Amino acid sequence: MNESHQVRAWYGLTGEIVVENDLWHLVKMGGVPLNHPPIVNLIVRRKLPRQDALRLSYLHEFGHFQTLPLALVHILLLLWGRRYRQRTMGWLKYAIALAVAHQAVWELAAEGYVVGQDSAAYRETYRDVHDSLLLIFWAAVGGLGLGLTWWLLRGN
Ligand SMILES: [Zn+2]
Repeated sequence: MNESHQVRAWYGLTGEIVVENDLWHLVKMGGVPLNHPPIVNLIVRRKLPRQDALRLSYLHEFGHFQTLPLALVHILLLLWGRRYRQRTMGWLKYAIALAVAHQAVWELAAEGYVVGQDSAAYRETYRDVHDSLLLIFWAAVGGLGLGLTWWLLRGN
């Protein structure tokens, strides 16, 4: 399966989403390949029927497009508030914390977009999926995204 979708974000940026197989999606924004770990599509869709998994995975990738401005504002906010943490923890640790916080928040935003598109269909899709890993996964992503953001901005 190799399906390509041309997409356009609400703020005008065009891109391409290629569904290469069940798990791997290639996303290009304005011609620039966007590499991000397919961790949500791997973990969160693992117990879904194939069609549902593909549909939600595709929407999730599009969600990354749609929420890019939010992700940029988030990272700018972190960079703007960086002085204190950067001074006290060193560059490498700071850069890793920043990257993890950014990725986690963007995953939350993209999946939030999926839910927001059709929350009734989303609930229906997951109604019969009993997977305790889901709860652990979202708790971890939420904790890392919001927790690290709070921690990085604290003490300014
Ligand atoms: Zn994602």
